[in-house]
Amino acid sequence: MENLVIGLDIGTTSAKAVLFQKNGLVIEESESLYPVHHPQPSWAEQDPLVIEKAAIEAIGTVIRKANAEKKQVVAVGLSTAMHSLICIDEKHMPLSPSIIWADGRSVEQATRLRLQTDIYLKTGTPIHPMSPLCKLVWMKETDYEPYKKADKFVSIKEFLLLRWFGEAVVDYSVASATGLFNIHSFEWDEEVLKVAGIRREQLSKPVAPTTICQGLSHELASEMGLDTNTPFVLGGSDGPLANLGIGAIAPGDVAITVGTSGAIRQMASKPKTDELQEIFCYAVTDERWIMGGPTNNGGIVFQWLRDVLGEKEVELAIQRGGSAYDLLTKSASSVAPGSNGLLFLPFLNGERAPYWDANARGSLIGLTLSHKKEHIVRAGLEGVVYSLYSVGEALERLAGQPIHLFASGGFARSPLWLQIVADIFGHPVQVPESHQSSAWGAAWFALLAVGEASSLEEIKQSIPMKQTIEPNGESHKVYRELYETYRQLYMALKPHFTTLANFQRNH
Ligand code: ADP
Repeated sequence: MENLVIGLDIGTTSAKAVLFQKNGLVIEESESLYPVHHPQPSWAEQDPLVIEKAAIEAIGTVIRKANAEKKQVVAVGLSTAMHSLICIDEKHMPLSPSIIWADGRSVEQATRLRLQTDIYLKTGTPIHPMSPLCKLVWMKETDYEPYKKADKFVSIKEFLLLRWFGEAVVDYSVASATGLFNIHSFEWDEEVLKVAGIRREQLSKPVAPTTICQGLSHELASEMGLDTNTPFVLGGSDGPLANLGIGAIAPGDVAITVGTSGAIRQMASKPKTDELQEIFCYAVTDERWIMGGPTNNGGIVFQWLRDVLGEKEVELAIQRGGSAYDLLTKSASSVAPGSNGLLFLPFLNGERAPYWDANARGSLIGLTLSHKKEHIVRAGLEGVVYSLYSVGEALERLAGQPIHLFASGGFARSPLWLQIVADIFGHPVQVPESHQSSAWGAAWFALLAVGEASSLEEIKQSIPMKQTIEPNGESHKVYRELYETYRQLYMALKPHFTTLANFQRNH
């Protein structure tokens, strides 16, 4: 009877439980979906009790589907999306919804706090409405009732740990992404807590990612199909765990993840931040930090192109089965790199790194009568990668040159998109077999915690890889030339984007 490990990845749209062998092979996976609510246009909230139910269901289903014995599961590792914030009472019941990374209600507070550069230098969290710090200041300033009544402020992971084990603990990387945690001293920062108007006792204890919680109730254990003593290991947030799960842990290893949003990240052996506030730097273990930049405009740009231009492809995909994305990518493949001089600035959703500008807007530049739908689609795919490349430049300044690129997320299903990455960056791109890199990263910390693995680095031997895509020298030259123009366009258009964004808000 072989030992197995579960990675539980609680994302924005679903809880995924993935059952792995120790060598990284996926035995079975299960996903339980939940919605994001937008009670006001820029708000983004979820029901933590619904997420709890989905997480329990995902674990229970994966065990059932795999017909696994509960004794086979040596541990469960946890991965969660960053920046969620829930106000809870003494009985660990939610007083507020979970306010998630996509919530923009604290834009005013963020604009003000961003000028206090020292906060970012200490915490490594870019000052932006995504961060719990800005949300707490918004709560304080608007007399938000749950804030005034809260016994504790927690992320979705701490919420589950409190309810399942009664333990108020948080791993370093989830703590780091709050904007309240000092990445140099590994403690909550008293000065920043004052800004947020909260007390240290209202937060969980920051602990290492290999920390174990144990002691599920009989009822919960039976719903999950696990033993009451199954160790739950804290793990981290989904970003650094994706790096670990894909094997991007050495200097020069760069992970590019594009799902709905996207990010580019490198691990480092020292924390680094600077006055420009372009890059996040979060603690992961006692001796490793993750640096990188998130983009709001990843796969969502392709989704928008499909919805706006892909009516025919969507219909065909429904009739014949398959994916409208694949049909659109196929026609975009017939266009040469550079889309005949058409540039697509992908900021449809405002932008985080590197500009941190909610007013940034999308733009198609260079249109002529000869451009067709496939040029626009290709320019969109290229634009997302130019944007990641520009974040990569900012990252390189702090973390060093990229040597190996690793790709994960929904975009890795597209050979064309991966080729564009290889060609724009001018480096080979390695792609793993499984999309579930964060779950595998969480599972690896779990194996380390229970003594079934001996080092982080060892994971490199346990990541089944699918393929490596080599860059094309000629295409790289074309992209270098066009990127120069791309880079200058945002700055040139910035004031106009602000005017248009204001117009859009007011009409
Ligand atoms: P999430 O971040 O919500 O977990 P995924 O990682 O599944 O999402 O990524 C979803 C995105 O992946 C879509 O918005 C789309 O842009 C992209 N995508 C999905 N399938 C394909 C495909 N066959 N070809 C290209 N892109 C795809």
